[in-house]
Amino acid sequence: MGVRGIALIGSTGSIGSSTLSVVDAFPDRLRVVSLAAGNNADLLASQVARYSPSVVGMATPDASDRLRSTGVALPPVVGVGADGLIAAAIHPDVDLVICASSGSVALEAILAAIDAGKTIALANKEVLVMAGALVTAAARRKQVSILPVDSEHNAIHQCLHGRDGAEIKRLILTASGGPFRQCSQEALERATLSDALQHPTWQMGRKITIDSATLMNKGLEVIEAHWLFGVRPDQIDVVIHPQSVVHSLVEFIDGSLLAQLGVTDMRLPIQYACSYPHRWAALLPSLDLARAGRLEFEAPAFDRFPCLGLAYRALRAGESVPCVLNAANEIGVASFLEGRVGFTDIPQIIERTMDAHTPVAADTLAAVRSLDTWARQQAAHVVESLPAGTPR
Ligand code: MG
Repeated sequence: MGVRGIALIGSTGSIGSSTLSVVDAFPDRLRVVSLAAGNNADLLASQVARYSPSVVGMATPDASDRLRSTGVALPPVVGVGADGLIAAAIHPDVDLVICASSGSVALEAILAAIDAGKTIALANKEVLVMAGALVTAAARRKQVSILPVDSEHNAIHQCLHGRDGAEIKRLILTASGGPFRQCSQEALERATLSDALQHPTWQMGRKITIDSATLMNKGLEVIEAHWLFGVRPDQIDVVIHPQSVVHSLVEFIDGSLLAQLGVTDMRLPIQYACSYPHRWAALLPSLDLARAGRLEFEAPAFDRFPCLGLAYRALRAGESVPCVLNAANEIGVASFLEGRVGFTDIPQIIERTMDAHTPVAADTLAAVRSLDTWARQQAAHVVESLPAGTPR
């Protein structure tokens, strides 16, 4: 395998920085072709100075102006918004598009990259949740691989290597349980933003950290697993595993379970996606099992964490419902981050938005974008209608 050209969508976030440290460790195998970021112009400027990409993208004209005003030497192509992401993803020197942006902004860029025949390494789950049918059909048509970077799906991908899908009995996604695993319902109702941002095992961005606290992150991963591995909803289970050492498991039809274990560091799944189907020598120290000590497993509490059940409900309903779930969750989480709603309002916002929706097909980009817009507006109405004065 020669040097792989990388387009990194979401380069200034947590997965973006981990990806660049994998690139640094394998300079003869990986090369940055494109970098795209949201609004962090200063960090992007320092990345541009270091990696000299051929394409740079930023979310808004204002962010792009701030990038220019840093005085860093920029390539000829500096794109803005969705067009910037697309330009970054489809550059001819790109072999692998690593999608590490949060939310749904990268959907068009992923579809364009698939159309251009690029391999996709997907760290972003929202794209598959909102448009799984569309994205996976396009990938099949173009015979493009979608390699999972999300640690659980990366683990399952490793366990399934070389196996036939018909041999899968079920997939078991592990979940840390988040900071509120042992909290009572009353404590959840009083949970503050800073409580929710204290993740026990993983350091991540704010949106995904809140999703981990509500267990919606695991719910989104259930939907993501359905699309990545082609299994039915009843073949996907979730088990709480507070130590985050076992990253997920596959049970085969003969009753054998295979698991992938490793240190809790996203550089491991990112490296596997970059090296696949090969393995490269480790960047990270070995997992010390004796130091890890005890590995615990327990059933998730669907009653205290209704987001998980809502995600299963959306997956079973199919069509447009996961897209609506995802959009309503983004509004619910953003409202919580802004201090406008309480922690236990998040599932309420999602459920009431889903209740107001009649499922329709979600098999075109236009349909997905219009459903997403409708669901965000509906969820915003729900936020407005909530009684004020919930302790934050
Ligand atoms: Mg994950």
